[in-house]
Amino acid sequence: MIRSEVRVSTTEEVVAELRKRSAFVFVSHVKPDGDTLGAGLALGLALRAMGKQVAYFQQDPVPRNLRFLPDADRVARELPPDLPADALWVFCDMSDTSRAGEFLPLLDRANVLDIDHHLGNTHFGALNYVLSSECSTGTCVLRLLRAMGAPITPEIATNLLTTIMTDTGGFMHSNTTAEVLRISAELTDLGADKEEITEKIFANKRFAAIRIVGRALGSARLECNGKFCWSVVDDAMLAETGADGEDTEEIVQHLRSVEGVDVAALFKDYEGDVRVSLRGNGRVNVQQAAGRLGGGGHHRASGLTFAGPLDDALVAVRAALLAQGL
Ligand code: AMP
Ligand code: MN
Ligand code: MN
Repeated sequence: MIRSEVRVSTTEEVVAELRKRSAFVFVSHVKPDGDTLGAGLALGLALRAMGKQVAYFQQDPVPRNLRFLPDADRVARELPPDLPADALWVFCDMSDTSRAGEFLPLLDRANVLDIDHHLGNTHFGALNYVLSSECSTGTCVLRLLRAMGAPITPEIATNLLTTIMTDTGGFMHSNTTAEVLRISAELTDLGADKEEITEKIFANKRFAAIRIVGRALGSARLECNGKFCWSVVDDAMLAETGADGEDTEEIVQHLRSVEGVDVAALFKDYEGDVRVSLRGNGRVNVQQAAGRLGGGGHHRASGLTFAGPLDDALVAVRAALLAQGL
């Protein structure tokens, strides 16, 4: 991980760089979501329309519910053989390059652009377009597209609206400002297919997905005078229900929706790791709690990968949350 001074690049600097380069690789984070993918696809589509070479590098496959995104079929782990050495690598929606996974080639920092909205972004690029007040990385991209005067096609609009709907939880989280709603209306006017986004992302669950949600909610625990709600999903539960990791995304939100709960945690003890998703109501800063254990994210939504067994993760996460004021 490269750390450096905290200077955020201006829109003009980033736009000048985008104009200058002829080839781009968009990088999304592991376990990709609608923001990391939609942001890269939106900017990639705009640059392709300007005649530039665009590739998408992603370690994990595109999740089933995001395959409808325009241009998502071009996302791959392989790089084009004719990629020029001075291609600009554009990282979307991640605090540091380790979130891109282990297959990332070694890169010259001069060829790295970091576009993100995470609070703990490490400014690992030559240019860092890190706007933590934005609701999604996609809305950072929208700022760039507007500054470039790039036409926003229906395909680009659908990708951008997906980034917003993903990171606002379908316009429900506190980052859904009036401005976010205005932008979303504009994107809808430009042809973003809100109906398809809603259907594909929020109403397209496999039957196994509701079974794993039921299993995890059925064994949820309430602690700390009802302020902390947590549950676990492990390999056995996945096997039992026929679900996989993609089917576990919404569980933590249900845990958080219990009255009186300040923080919810889902411990994902499968596929050889213990990953923890944290969600808060704003009273406890879960980004800082995750940060104590090497993770990160946002004030109300964060995550971490725990190096050790589940029992230790439970103890460590509880301690981190208590230290953060739970
Ligand atoms: P998740 O619970 O996986 O949906 O992640 C919630 C938020 O935490 C997202 O903004 C992620 O980028 C961030 N996050 C999740 N896992 C990690 C991690 N291992 N390290 C840093 N940030 C993470
Ligand atoms: Mn993300
Ligand atoms: Mn995001």
